[in-house]
Amino acid sequence: MSTLHVGYFNLGLDADPPLARAIRGELVRQQDGIELIASENIVSKLVLEAQGSVMTNKTVEGFAYARYYGGAEYADAIEALAIERAKTLFGCSFANVQAHSGSNANNGVFLGLLKPGETILSMKTAAGGHISHGHPATLTGRDYDIVHYGVSRETEKVDLEEVRNLARKHRPKIIVAGGSAYAWTLDFEGFRAIADEVGAYLMVDMAHFAGLVAAGCYPNPFPHAHVVTSTTNKSLRGARGAMALWNDAVLSDRINYGIFPGVQGAVMLHIVAAKAACFGEAMRPEFKAYNRAALENALALAGRLAEHGMRLVSGGTNTSLMLVDLVNQGITGDIAATALEAVGIAVNKNQIPFDTRPPEAPSGLRLSSSAGTTRGFGRDEFRQIGDWIVRAIEARGDAAALAAIHEDVRTLCRRFPIYDAA
Ligand SMILES: *Cc1c(COP(=O)(O)O)cnc(C)c1O
Repeated sequence: MSTLHVGYFNLGLDADPPLARAIRGELVRQQDGIELIASENIVSKLVLEAQGSVMTNKTVEGFAYARYYGGAEYADAIEALAIERAKTLFGCSFANVQAHSGSNANNGVFLGLLKPGETILSMKTAAGGHISHGHPATLTGRDYDIVHYGVSRETEKVDLEEVRNLARKHRPKIIVAGGSAYAWTLDFEGFRAIADEVGAYLMVDMAHFAGLVAAGCYPNPFPHAHVVTSTTNKSLRGARGAMALWNDAVLSDRINYGIFPGVQGAVMLHIVAAKAACFGEAMRPEFKAYNRAALENALALAGRLAEHGMRLVSGGTNTSLMLVDLVNQGITGDIAATALEAVGIAVNKNQIPFDTRPPEAPSGLRLSSSAGTTRGFGRDEFRQIGDWIVRAIEARGDAAALAAIHEDVRTLCRRFPIYDAA
């Protein structure tokens, strides 16, 4: 079987050694390390090939079969294919597959549906929300009036009573459900009832659970959401980019023009081709099996960490993602992440709900089973990873102990090659 991506490195080794060395180094890093960062996955060769294809040479603006540039017959076919597949996969009537990133998809939808100064009700970042939902450092935080809901202190889960009270008080134009560090399924029907009560749009940002939705392992935001945004590179395991989906034709121009020309220009057709590729893969039975395994693996990892006395925020997870509270371990997320990096386990530090610590040195870690499951790790491997996480955190500062764990990590990883690159 051809390994075109490796072919790229070989070409590059001749033409541009420093660049090729870095890309090859990254392949080895991915091969030899355990990836628990929730926004990452390991895409197929088909997705890699589509992203690296000649479509990168073609410029088009506008929409399929309505372009500002000629020579667009294949561009149109590819964009239309991606749109058709996205609609089929998520059971909706309209799709825009042009957004270069999740933040752009959100900015485009907000631009299309809101006027400056109107109100967005979204989840706080410390409770698991995403910065593109109104953080002061982003355009959304500057252009709109932002109100946040959090999670219940008791359950650390979304409390729809709080959402309803805030919605009644602030009358938002858009309510956003979905975040980056929330481990549980969301009640979209409940969110929609609140949106209807106050005359708001319900926008679901499913970036982290889109793959689970496609596989039927997480409730579909449709028909409850007015608009759904998502990245395509996280649990959906595809191109590095995003999309917007909706059902009501009345919204089409506002969302499409919000994205182009609202927040970006010409289409990245190679990325759209790779989106079509990953949507096609997500329709296959193997993708359902993958997502079922990712859920089981997340439970195995969470269970093992809990057996070691680690506290899981909100009592665990029913998705592929979880948050660990390190307060009982007496260390912060940045220090734990550094210890884990030393043994070849990549995680990200994360605030936990009601965190008293800053984002740079927060109280938690976010972990995900998405990428490890792709390379074939099962429950036994994830329980083993749980043991290593606990041991590495305990052994931080003991270089010999960390080196021994690192060697075990490498040995496991070599049994599960990615891209036949072992
Ligand atoms: C990752 C993520 C995004 C942003 O994606 P980028 O492609 O990094 O801009 C948006 N929303 C949520 C909920 C995310 O998790």
